[in-house]
Amino acid sequence: MGDGIARHVQAAIAEADVVVCVIDGSVPPTQPDRDAIKLLRRSRKPVIYVANKIDGQSREWGLGEYYELGVGEFVGVSALHGRHMGKLEGAIVKSLPKAVPEEPEVDGEERPLRIALVGRPNAGKSSLFNRLSGDERSLVDDRPGTTRDPVDTEILYKGKKYKVMDTAGIRRKARVERGVEEQSVIRSIRMVNQADVIILMCDITGNIAEQDARLLGLCAERGRAIVVALNKADLVPSEELKAILAEAGHQLHFATWAPIVPISVHSGHGVGNLMRAVDSAGAEMNKRIGTSALNRFFEQVLAHHPPPTKSGKAPRIYYITQTNVRPPTFVGFSSAPDHIAESYRRFVTNQIRKSFGYHAVPLRIFFRGKNRDDDQA
Ligand code: GDP
Repeated sequence: MGDGIARHVQAAIAEADVVVCVIDGSVPPTQPDRDAIKLLRRSRKPVIYVANKIDGQSREWGLGEYYELGVGEFVGVSALHGRHMGKLEGAIVKSLPKAVPEEPEVDGEERPLRIALVGRPNAGKSSLFNRLSGDERSLVDDRPGTTRDPVDTEILYKGKKYKVMDTAGIRRKARVERGVEEQSVIRSIRMVNQADVIILMCDITGNIAEQDARLLGLCAERGRAIVVALNKADLVPSEELKAILAEAGHQLHFATWAPIVPISVHSGHGVGNLMRAVDSAGAEMNKRIGTSALNRFFEQVLAHHPPPTKSGKAPRIYYITQTNVRPPTFVGFSSAPDHIAESYRRFVTNQIRKSFGYHAVPLRIFFRGKNRDDDQA
């Protein structure tokens, strides 16, 4: 394994609760497979070894050498045929650590929203933090931290408490050195994992870079609510703003739904709008839609747009229910979950987004079989 790759893999392992190591079960281990297994055995994290391409008994011969490397047990799957996906899901769920309990509400008071300020150097993150915390000059909590334990600061903005994450990282001016960038990506990921709402700050006068778009994609993938702040709006003529916003929406294609708010931290213009968008995003993360309301809506959708036939099968969808929040997650029960096209899943996602007012959060939708045997999605 190359040094760079090894570092990335190590960082990913350090961040993970459970590692799923997928090998090609139809051939003996290659040298990179052997290196990866060595790394994993040293990591002391729970590891689930998955042998893919196990399509029939005759193909399981490739595993013998793995057992010699000390791998005790494999979940044999065929990703192509969806074989044993339920078993894999079960193994992952069993290995997950117990969820960290939410911080308890104090005297019925809501716990403050956790905000992560991310974006490239010079976008204006520290300026925004200073404006938000300076507004009422009330830093409630500013405890020291280390690199592994980033400093979170509680602030009071217009009478409401927020926790701004990793303020040490924001304040420390990003020195662009080799290695620092990589480190800051790892920090960002850690922060994103713990935040309720991400504010992605971009400089309105510069092009929105691929890096911003990728960061946005990462936040969406991790199921976080996102609001994009286009800062330094004081530097562009107001008649150009509309075209700039449209262009920014186009660039940020990884999460086209994320609201984009023009602001000027210097003049204070738009900062109120931004924080209102952050509040609604936080509320959307925790919003629960009742099953009956959801199915009333869904009957309408099905009546006009039933799932299209795929590979000669017309999947039926019986009902849909919200199974989780943060991020909102929905499960539709179907006669043939693996025959529901990706385009139809996207269509249903957009319908839910529009009908139930989800503007700033990624939605997750899965289709499941009613019986375990159908459950190949
Ligand atoms: P960070 O690296 O993302 O924390 O960015 P800073 O907050 O340090 O800001 C970088 C530079 O942009 C500083 O020189 C700020 O004064 C400037 N800046 C921040 N916000 C604004 C703004 O709203 N308008 C203008 N014109 N400049 C700004």
